[in-house]
Parts: sequence; C-alpha cells; structure tokens
Amino acid sequence: MIYLDYLSTTPCDPAVVKAMLPWFGEDFGNPHSVHGPGRKAAQAVERARESVAKLLGVEAREIVFTSGATEANNLAIKGAARHLARLGDPRRRIVTVATEHKCVLESVRALMGEGFEAVVLGVDGEGRVDPEALREALKVPTLLVSIMAANNETGVLQDIPRLAAIVKEAGALMHVDLAQMAGKMPMSLHNVDLASVSAHKMYGPKGIGALYVRRRPRVRLEPLLSGGGQERGFRSGTVPTPLVVGFGVAAELAAATLADEVARQVFLRDDLWAQLRDGLPGTVLNGAGAPRLAGALNVCLPEGLAALDMLEACPDIAASTGSACTAAEIAPSYVLTAIGLSAQDASRCLRLSVGRFTSKADIDRAASFLIAAARACHHN
Ligand SMILES: *Cc1c(COP(=O)(O)O)cnc(C)c1O
Repeated sequence: MIYLDYLSTTPCDPAVVKAMLPWFGEDFGNPHSVHGPGRKAAQAVERARESVAKLLGVEAREIVFTSGATEANNLAIKGAARHLARLGDPRRRIVTVATEHKCVLESVRALMGEGFEAVVLGVDGEGRVDPEALREALKVPTLLVSIMAANNETGVLQDIPRLAAIVKEAGALMHVDLAQMAGKMPMSLHNVDLASVSAHKMYGPKGIGALYVRRRPRVRLEPLLSGGGQERGFRSGTVPTPLVVGFGVAAELAAATLADEVARQVFLRDDLWAQLRDGLPGTVLNGAGAPRLAGALNVCLPEGLAALDMLEACPDIAASTGSACTAAEIAPSYVLTAIGLSAQDASRCLRLSVGRFTSKADIDRAASFLIAAARACHHN
C-alpha cells in the first residue's frame, strides 16, 4: 500500500506508540487525583503540555487539551462569541472564509441561530484570502475572525501574520485553525488569540488536540462542557493521559525534524507532480501560484479522467478525490468550487499528500500506477 493521504490523517510515529503504552497499563492513575499514581500521571500531562506549547512557541498554561481540532475550533468560536455576548458586548459579527474546515463553518453557522452575524469571505483562484476584503469586512465592529493557516485539501497557506495584524488593528479576536500547519511548517502566533491543533495530523494519536488560549491579553471563553472544571475550567472531563503523552512526544518529534522534513517532502511532492505532469499532459496543479504545505499535492486530471475511477483502478494507492461522499450523494468539494473549479473539474481532482514515511520509491510507483491507470481509463 502506498499511503498518499497524510492530510487526512497520519499514522502514529512508532516512538509515540511506545511512549503511550505504559499509560494504558501500569500507569493508569487519574491525573486529577492527589495520590501517587495520580501525581505521576499529572506530571506526564504537564510535560506533554510543555512540549505542545514549545512547538507553538507559547506558554504551557496557554494550552487547553481537547478531543481534537474539531472540539478546539468549536470551543474557540462558540466559547469566545458566547462569552463576549454574555458580558454585554454589542458586536455580533464573526468573519470566516469559504474554504475553512466544516467544523469551523458549522460552528459559525450554529452561532447564527443565536443572533450572531456571519460573514464568509471568498478566496481567489489560488485559494487565498484578499487582505483588503478582510479589512472591508472588519469595518463593521467584529467579535472574532477565524482563518485556517493551511488548507486540508489544497495545502494552500494563508498569510496569517498579515491577516492577524489587520484583525488586531480592528480590535477583533483572531482564531487560527492550525490542524494542518502545526508541526509541519514554521509559523508564528504573533497577534493570534486562539489556535487549534490536532495530534493525528502530526503523527500523534486520534482523539486528542489542543486549543491555544492567549493569556496576555487574556482571552476568556465560555466552556462547551459542564463538569469538574478541568483544564482551568475551559474543558471539563478527565484528561486522557496516554493520548496527551503521545501528543507531547509527537510535538517533540515534529519540532526536531521539521526543517529536514519540509525539504524532503517538498522534493518528493515536486517529483510526483513532475512525473504526473509529464505522463498525463493537461494535468493542472491546484493552488500552483500560492505557498503550500510541503507535502500537499492537489491535481486536476485531464478531461475524461474521473478521479474516483482512477483510484479504483489503483487499489494500492490510498489517496483522496475532490469529492466528498455526504449522506446519500457525491458532492464536489466546496474548497475546490471556492477556488473556481466546476463540479466537473472537481470530479477530476486527486489529493495526493506525502508525509514522514513516504519514500522516493513510493512516489515512483504511485506515478507509474496512476499514469498506467489513466491510459487504461482512456481506452474504456
Ligand atoms: C483534520 C482537521 C480538523 C479536524 O481535526 P480533528 O482532530 O480530526 O477533529 C480541523 N481542521 C482542519 C484544517 C483539519 O485538517
């Protein structure tokens, strides 16, 4: 199997699995208990918090563990809006972008039912937000802006430092979905108030993530969950020690290997693109003109080639198409339609993402399988 779907999820690094195991077994203490086993677990949780904070360049006490980026995004957006509204803040506007992850768009939509106003900015043909459009939207006093650092389908990066400066100037809170960016590309959280991360996008376990909540100036949130008030009141529930420990090790590994991995993955990704472009003339690279995540490659195949048929013809490749199977039908990706592709175009798009365990041999085999499949599909 050639795994080329690292933007969907990543395997746990073997070092992460190894670090987690004792916390499922003998070291099972509740990190909120005051006895020996509990204290030992609590110390491990705090070490992991340090590691995640260090990766993001923030303080450990600014990290709130959640079940993943979906929960972190919900907590950031709903928590900030509801808290400010409860304090009597008259602002109602929340600004986000059409290509955000569903959990951001749906959180904003849920707030519309509570009297908030949503402004969803479009993107250009590369998938980037126009800073001037953001500035324009912020002319109406705004509570919160939520913009992702890197897109999960195209890998296109937003210019967060520039956008965050505009948001800061307008006096709104800035939330960034870092699920695809954290541990994969260098970044800065300057002028960012809230940021979401997910362990399983960076070689950690599924079911754990974190929200960075700025302390200076302090950002306050209304929690989503009622309970024991763990995580400084932001997130009730027993902290899952094994997952948190795995997340911490994943963060340390990411920090240690980031520079080398960016260079290696860019090389593999560009090699795969070159082979597809040469082997399948007419293939277009989505987001070609924008900076992108090192491992991300999203291509639109030439006319007559359906991405789904291509993947069916290549059972040894695990990749994604430009379509999402919703409840009953196959819908074109809203991210791809937002950058100007038709439903037809989107049905010819393949997302091939390389990662830590991809080799040059994988790239060569994948390219030859895809090119052979395209020739066979054309014959049918
Ligand atoms: C994967 C992903 C999420 C959701 O993360 P989970 O931890 O799976 O809930 C949110 N945003 C982006 C950009 C993602 O890629």
